[in-house]
Amino acid sequence: MSEQTIALVTGANKGIGYEIAAGLGTLGWQVGVGARDEQRRESAVAKLRANGVDAFGVPLDVTDDASVAAAARLLETGAGGLDVLVNNAGVTGGGRQRPGDVDLAAVRAAVDVNVIGVVRVTEAMLPLLRRSASPRVVNMSSGVGSLARQSASAGEHQTGPLSVAYGPSKTMLNAVTIQYARALARTNILVNAACPGFTATDLNGFRGVRTPQQGAAIAIRLATLPDDGPTGGYFEDAGVIPW
Ligand code: NAP
Repeated sequence: MSEQTIALVTGANKGIGYEIAAGLGTLGWQVGVGARDEQRRESAVAKLRANGVDAFGVPLDVTDDASVAAAARLLETGAGGLDVLVNNAGVTGGGRQRPGDVDLAAVRAAVDVNVIGVVRVTEAMLPLLRRSASPRVVNMSSGVGSLARQSASAGEHQTGPLSVAYGPSKTMLNAVTIQYARALARTNILVNAACPGFTATDLNGFRGVRTPQQGAAIAIRLATLPDDGPTGGYFEDAGVIPW
């Protein structure tokens, strides 16, 4: 295992993922830019390198078994391992999928990327993480995945548009996060879920009110937790989010 901390950020070619990669890079870490499109990936890597980040491209489509397996091989043989995995790649699943007017293919796409993609990548990377001195897994969830917030009385804490795709996919991602944290509780691998807040990116047509740098902050915090830090938690900048 290399002396330098090695991170992989999925969906790092733009938006919050790019800023997570940039933030981890300023710590002196080696950062794998996981992205499915070659041109977008290479231009993000070039931009990060121009800003002094030790970045390298990792071809990665989280919905594709072969792509994920190849990414794990690249990290093992090319980079020398993996210490921190940030599962950031996500899609909305066709925007609003209001009950009564649902495109099943869009719901399936949201689950495929936001949940199964995270499981696929985490499974592939776990053998590498187990060899690290301080491994961390950060799952980029959303506050709209909080059942407590979704079911709060109207006007109190309900967040996000009605959708049976995006929010529920993040709820399942939260449940998956807990399963990994439980399974790995006796190891040094800390696994947590993060909400970046409503951030101006392609995902929401840049309607978000936070900058991508602000959105990246919570994931960077969870990626850099001390060894006695929390695991199996769900956090935003302001603190713990109720499940
Ligand atoms: P974004 O700008 O749309 O970026 C999404 C990233 O995911 C892109 O790099 C995209 O790659 C990648 N991606 C999508 N499908 C992929 C796949 N199959 N394989 C690999 N990469 C894939 O959105 P963002 O706002 O930065 O979102 C980042 C994360 O934050 C997501 O998980 C999102 O749900 C979460 N989040 C965002 C907000 C917000 O307000 N923006 C709020 C809460 C949570 P391409 O460029 O190739 O499409």
